[in-house]
Amino acid sequence: MCAGSACENVPHMSFMPVLRALGDLVVPLECAGCATPSVRWCPVCDDAVGWAPTRCKTRFDTGMPVWSVTPYRGAIRRALVQWKEHGRTDLQPVLVHRLAYALASLLTDGELSGLVGDTTPVMLIPAPSRWLAHRKRGAHPVRDLAWGIGEEFGDRRVDVAEVLRLRLGSRDAVGLTAAERVVNVRGKVVLRRNAGTVLRAVAERSPHVILIDDIVTTGALLRESASVLRRHGVTVTAAVVFAAS
Ligand SMILES: [Zn+2]
Repeated sequence: MCAGSACENVPHMSFMPVLRALGDLVVPLECAGCATPSVRWCPVCDDAVGWAPTRCKTRFDTGMPVWSVTPYRGAIRRALVQWKEHGRTDLQPVLVHRLAYALASLLTDGELSGLVGDTTPVMLIPAPSRWLAHRKRGAHPVRDLAWGIGEEFGDRRVDVAEVLRLRLGSRDAVGLTAAERVVNVRGKVVLRRNAGTVLRAVAERSPHVILIDDIVTTGALLRESASVLRRHGVTVTAAVVFAAS
């Protein structure tokens, strides 16, 4: 506990640049998008993301509208690789905030139902990722995005249901052709244990069901995911993804 003028004269904040510089020596700090030093995410890259969600044209008909926050290219592409493959989990709040903003915009503008100021409850379903990929990366990036979005809304109007998983046997989609991506996920998306109970509760509430993913490439995984949900009585309203390639 400190008291009196001695404590008041200590320039607490002046230590911060020194501490940050020391931190840089331990873990090199650079913008995940453009490698600018001493900043995790720079204003230029942040501006490059944009705000308004865009309706995507996917190679395969997913049977639902697919909305993305930003194109998968340049600094955004580099940042997502850093986030997903190299442990840059500090980018998570950036992705979550943009996705939450996009979802709020779609509701406010009536893009999901034609109803401006739409207050329909929302159920977010994370698109499945390979189990081995999870294990290797030690995280569930897309699941964490969905939970983060729900927390940003904070009013319990947006819930998350983890009901989908990929069976073993599907490969990492990176480097696959469009045709290979279809084969890779065909029949591989399945419900998690006890998901049936969750989905019956979802169907009774009639929320907007939104698939969440980080990147959409061909739409094959989203199409397969929506198909599985449809077979269990749940119609997906739309997919909202961070980046579209
Ligand atoms: Zn940058």
